[in-house]
Amino acid sequence: MSREIIELGDYKIELLEEVELIHFADRKKLFEKEKEWIENLPSVNKQVPIRSEDEKKELFKKYLEDNKEYFLEWQRNYYQEHKEERKTYREEYYRINRESILAKDKIYRDAHRDTKSENNRNYRVENKEKIEAQRRQLYTCEVCGKCIMKASKSVHERSSFHTRFLSG
Ligand SMILES: [Zn+2]
Repeated sequence: MSREIIELGDYKIELLEEVELIHFADRKKLFEKEKEWIENLPSVNKQVPIRSEDEKKELFKKYLEDNKEYFLEWQRNYYQEHKEERKTYREEYYRINRESILAKDKIYRDAHRDTKSENNRNYRVENKEKIEAQRRQLYTCEVCGKCIMKASKSVHERSSFHTRFLSG
């Protein structure tokens, strides 16, 4: 039995090196290939039961889990190696699809225009209240010592009450 496990293990490693994973989405193919090999190994019980879809999904999940490090490493390398390529691809994609991307943006903007202007209106109303509140704040005039509203500052500074302190 242990011989079989070792053989199975050997085969797995050999296969991972042998079948090159070119696209990450091909993980499943790699899994299927490996399963095929394992199922055809002479030392392993040949009566492989027909598995249900759920079982297959479970097996695939387990396979990904067992080979996590390998796939992570593969992904890291892949992103590193294809960095420039991906950038070029994105640029090219934008260049080719520029019209439709812009059109989609416009549709989105049009659809949200009402909410946007509504928000702007709310902002202006809120701001107006803030400004009003500030204008109603009281302060003490440094020249005449009278307590007045900020809003009446310029009127106050022209008033005789205030100006007599200047001339005096
Ligand atoms: Zn004053």
